Amino acid sequence: MHQVVNVELADRSYPVLVGAGVRSELAAVLPDDVRRVAIITQANVPWDADPGRDHIRLEIPDGEAAKSLSVVENVCRQMAVAGITRADAVVAIGGGVVTDVAGFVAAVYHRGIRFVSVSTTLLGQVDASVGGKTGVNLPEGKNLVGAFWQPTAVLCDTETLSTLPPREMQCGLGEVAKYHFLGGDGLDTVALDDRVAACVQIKADVVAADEREGGHRAILNYGHTLAHAIETAGGYDLRHGEAVAIGLAYAAAVAHNLGRIGDARVAEHHRVLAAYDLPSTLPKGLSDNELLALFARDKKAIDGVTFVLDSVRGMETVVGVDSDILRASFSAIR
Ligand code: NAD
Repeated sequence: MHQVVNVELADRSYPVLVGAGVRSELAAVLPDDVRRVAIITQANVPWDADPGRDHIRLEIPDGEAAKSLSVVENVCRQMAVAGITRADAVVAIGGGVVTDVAGFVAAVYHRGIRFVSVSTTLLGQVDASVGGKTGVNLPEGKNLVGAFWQPTAVLCDTETLSTLPPREMQCGLGEVAKYHFLGGDGLDTVALDDRVAACVQIKADVVAADEREGGHRAILNYGHTLAHAIETAGGYDLRHGEAVAIGLAYAAAVAHNLGRIGDARVAEHHRVLAAYDLPSTLPKGLSDNELLALFARDKKAIDGVTFVLDSVRGMETVVGVDSDILRASFSAIR
């Protein structure tokens, strides 16, 4: 049994299949006229999927370092040597790193070929594999080169999460916690498959409303302003999802101090973080001044410090948040 979430785009829609074992649907979701497939994966990913036609299998390195133009070149060259053409397809099998690289390869190889993603991490399933953002890093910064390239289909096989290291699972739960406040009330009380499908549905709805990140899609960055500051400061043993969790607690405090939400909504943030065993306090050693300086450097801070903030009307992007409020709100996460 699996669930299907359709991502409705301006010119077409594509299905995201969610459930244990859905990787076995790979051959069926590939368009009939796809003759050959380039599977892109990592040695660390202990899962495979059968595309049901002639294919090559390429491994990329592990970690953020794999998101580089040199890895993209290497993969494209191997595909060229193997004779992969525009009639063929790229299939990613792995987490967010694999889907970001493979999606970008699909976007640029022969000016764009079809792409299917088999997502094997919780973060990949609820976030990276849906929405069409692909890309790699430069030494100057993360995700600086990329393209919007929507997949033909996405397979979120929840069975593959059984081998995911606990810390990687935690990382995905940071993003899952975010979805609680984007309309996913009670997500912590449902089974894993239903939870993943509900998160995908929320992301699909946001993407459908704003395919190319004109504005509304920014609400997916809830909790991310502080998370990015912590990550940029560096040197802290926190994964992205854990930093997002602290960012959610902080965003709740900022919204509360601005009179946008009440005590009960703040308490709900802390309840959800605790339910997933996620952190809600800053690591030691990060000063208020350092964090405020990093907020100002955030790439969204064009006209002043920008935060996605909760309110009784829902999530809103707020430009130019007062620095006294930001400073006062740190005490809630210390
Ligand atoms: P990851 O892809 O690095 O995977 C984490 C580790 O788990 C890797 O070592 C991987 O090989 C291994 N792994 C993958 N599946 C496994 C499985 N089933 N069992 C055991 N091990 C497995 O990390 P991630 O958290 O999935 O992705 C992070 C990346 O996603 C970041 O680069 C981030 O920028 C990107 N991202 C992209 C988007 C987007 O919209 N494009 C959104 C969010 C995040």
